[in-house]
Amino acid sequence: MSEHVLQIKNLHMHYEQGGKVLSILKGANFALEKGETVALVAPSGTGKSTLLHVAGLLEKPSEGEVLIGGIATSSLDDNARTAMRRSDIGFVYQFHHLLPEFTALENVMMPQMIAGLSYKEAAERSGQLLEYLRIGDRATHRPSELSGGEQQRVAIARSVANAPLLLLADEPTGNLDPETAGYVFGALKALVRQSGLSALIATHNHDIAAMMDRRVTLQDGHVVSF
Ligand code: ADP
Ligand code: MG
Repeated sequence: MSEHVLQIKNLHMHYEQGGKVLSILKGANFALEKGETVALVAPSGTGKSTLLHVAGLLEKPSEGEVLIGGIATSSLDDNARTAMRRSDIGFVYQFHHLLPEFTALENVMMPQMIAGLSYKEAAERSGQLLEYLRIGDRATHRPSELSGGEQQRVAIARSVANAPLLLLADEPTGNLDPETAGYVFGALKALVRQSGLSALIATHNHDIAAMMDRRVTLQDGHVVSF
């Protein structure tokens, strides 16, 4: 039996907008195996961010089930969802969302400190991650003192700081020029491979999508392979 890190079952998401109901997900199903990388490629407005937010336990679906590491999440309370999000899921946004008043190293350390690691342990692992992503020499810089590509690499380091099972990335290279995007994505992919992570990555970049194990799209509220 294959081991599923993420399973999405009969997922519905409806939004109310100006008295009208907008159905974005209409019974979507999807499964991600351990160690697998999948690109989510679909036009703007089709529900990529919605799907990633629901999969990442940042939003609750209107209907359906999300399983993380085989555990159904719909009946978990908010504390249990938050705990699972912190330990099992890494999220990378299109905009880095780094804390501006902290250094690169401190931004990567933050989730580990919250998880209970000592300052020393967190600093050590964070330093290693930044080295691995080749921005070790930027560790003491604040986000505003980093380039876009460097900021995204810090955000990637932060997302995997707690050694999650699952990495979700929402157009992580969407704001970068093609060359930087290729470099940042290469670093992301190497990290995913090295740590045995599973990843679902929304992207508009077809070169990036081609480097993943498989590709899916969103069609009329369903996840479809292509
Ligand atoms: P994508 O990431 O593929 O561009 P999104 O998941 O962001 O798509 O959005 C899908 C659709 O859902 C869009 O039409 C968007 O306007 C709508 N939508 C997203 N979030 C909300 C919300 N909180 N309230 C109302 N509509 C929303
Ligand atoms: Mg989006």
